[in-house]
Amino acid sequence: MRMLTAVVPVYNEESILPELNSRLVEVLGSMPLEWRIVYVDDGSRDGTPRILADLAESESRVGVVHLSRNFGQQEAISAGLAVAPGDAVVVLDGDLQDPPEVIPSLVEEWEAGYRVVYAIKRDRKEGPVKRWLFSSFYWLLRKLSPLEIPSNAGNFSLMDRSVVDLINRMPERHRYVSGLRAYVGGPQIGVEFERAARYAGDPRQSPRKLLRMASDALFAFSDLPLRAASFMGFVVSGVAFVVLVDVLYKRLVTGEAILGWASVMTSVLFLGGIQLIALGVIGEYIGRIYDETKGRPSVVVARYRNLPAGSGPAALPRLDGE
Ligand code: UDP
Ligand code: MG
Repeated sequence: MRMLTAVVPVYNEESILPELNSRLVEVLGSMPLEWRIVYVDDGSRDGTPRILADLAESESRVGVVHLSRNFGQQEAISAGLAVAPGDAVVVLDGDLQDPPEVIPSLVEEWEAGYRVVYAIKRDRKEGPVKRWLFSSFYWLLRKLSPLEIPSNAGNFSLMDRSVVDLINRMPERHRYVSGLRAYVGGPQIGVEFERAARYAGDPRQSPRKLLRMASDALFAFSDLPLRAASFMGFVVSGVAFVVLVDVLYKRLVTGEAILGWASVMTSVLFLGGIQLIALGVIGEYIGRIYDETKGRPSVVVARYRNLPAGSGPAALPRLDGE
């Protein structure tokens, strides 16, 4: 029998975990598959680690990776993928916004031969501002990236073993998993679903963390911003050349007086602005290059439960201890 593993990143989700686990176990158990669950505790500070310990204690198919601190959602998902056993892995958020009941429809497409089945949010249960920001983000990502990254397809997806192995072998540290998943290619399909509201509590992805994820996605999957700087440079130099010809003509031929304080100021400010933007863009890339060259692991594991320690295709670095 084939095995399906659910990977769930969790950060301070004590009020959701019991409900999440029972719904997940019920759905997984209802399919003619062997199953496992891997919770990745992303350095939670509430009762989450204890609840996870209890869940793992009472069910050997539930495994836990406790990270040594909060590393971030995408890093937690990557850690889960690195240790998840099984012929396919389904990733879902731990706040029940991705309903476990959708999993069988993802499995169906996998059995029909698709290597990646991503769930598409039919409509977001978020406020208008967040919705607008998300749709602009996806619009920008589609415009900038040569890769076809589907809109409104987040973490919630099923990936075949072959895809998971490929993603695990990608050594990059700024990980936008939905982008890496699209990068692999092969037969991929989307399945629409109704995204639920968060079961309890506030989003754990703070605006700052979301912004970091968005910039990781944009800068990791596009080099267009870098090239846009040189494009702007060409346009501006072209305009400057025309103006120069005009200035020389007026000075040497017609002898008109110079009265252009306003035009000098605007062009100085304009050029200054463009240069700063270009520098900023270069900075974004250099910062990421710097991070990659440092070669630090993207997560550190404090402890495994019900998972062969250090196993998996990409053994994760471990803080020694129990
Ligand atoms: N999460 C995580 N690490 C973090 C932030 C969030 O593992 O630093 C988990 C969180 O517990 C949840 C999932 O990622 O299971 C989605 O987070 P959230 O609901 O806050 O994000 P959103 O719904 O805004 O995408
Ligand atoms: Mg959520």
